[in-house]
Amino acid sequence: MFINIHTHAEIYDAQLELVNLYVGKGERTGYYSYGMHPWYIDKTYESDLKKLKDLAKEKRCLAIGECGLDKLSKVDFNLQEKVFIEHIKLANELKKPLIIHCVKAFNELINCLNLNDNKVPVIIHGFNNNENIARILTSEGYYFSFGKALLAYDSPAAKAIKAIGRKRFFLETDNADLSIKYVYLKAGELLGVNDEIIQMQIEENFKTVFDIDLINSKGKTSSKK
Ligand SMILES: [Zn+2]
Repeated sequence: MFINIHTHAEIYDAQLELVNLYVGKGERTGYYSYGMHPWYIDKTYESDLKKLKDLAKEKRCLAIGECGLDKLSKVDFNLQEKVFIEHIKLANELKKPLIIHCVKAFNELINCLNLNDNKVPVIIHGFNNNENIARILTSEGYYFSFGKALLAYDSPAAKAIKAIGRKRFFLETDNADLSIKYVYLKAGELLGVNDEIIQMQIEENFKTVFDIDLINSKGKTSSKK
């Protein structure tokens, strides 16, 4: 089966896709994640956070995010941190993984997570940074999600996927006009394995990170516990 861990619109070419929704905006069918992207935090952030806290409890909301820190965002960095910390607290309260957007702020990201005693799995989405950063994030126990950047063989993502080990990653389309199946194919090529091996590995990774057995229940949510 194909799992698309992060997309902004339903593409329906994966058996399981996690559609990212900004607070309450967008269609709610299938499975999704709720969060406040660091580009779009604005004056209404306090009421948006309140909405988020309610919405995130929904059963079909499997993760919190995308959220995080971005040094290239026009939004004040202190405000980004403040909002991100609220996401960390919420994710830990609800015991749902975090899907992270991070640009040029990995030290601050790690500090925020550690200072707030984060215990939930962290997935760094759209990863396309060097192996050194990948190693630091791996040593923190984080997971990665790779997308379009894998299509270029000499991209940092293409090198990082080989360095981090198969148990630590997911694949995504994000907002690219692209089939998730093609991303699986590219990941397989880079790792020198059949893409069916990638499918099986990502299923395993999914079961490890998400405390929910979606895979055997054909789309119906059923908790393992
Ligand atoms: Zn995204």
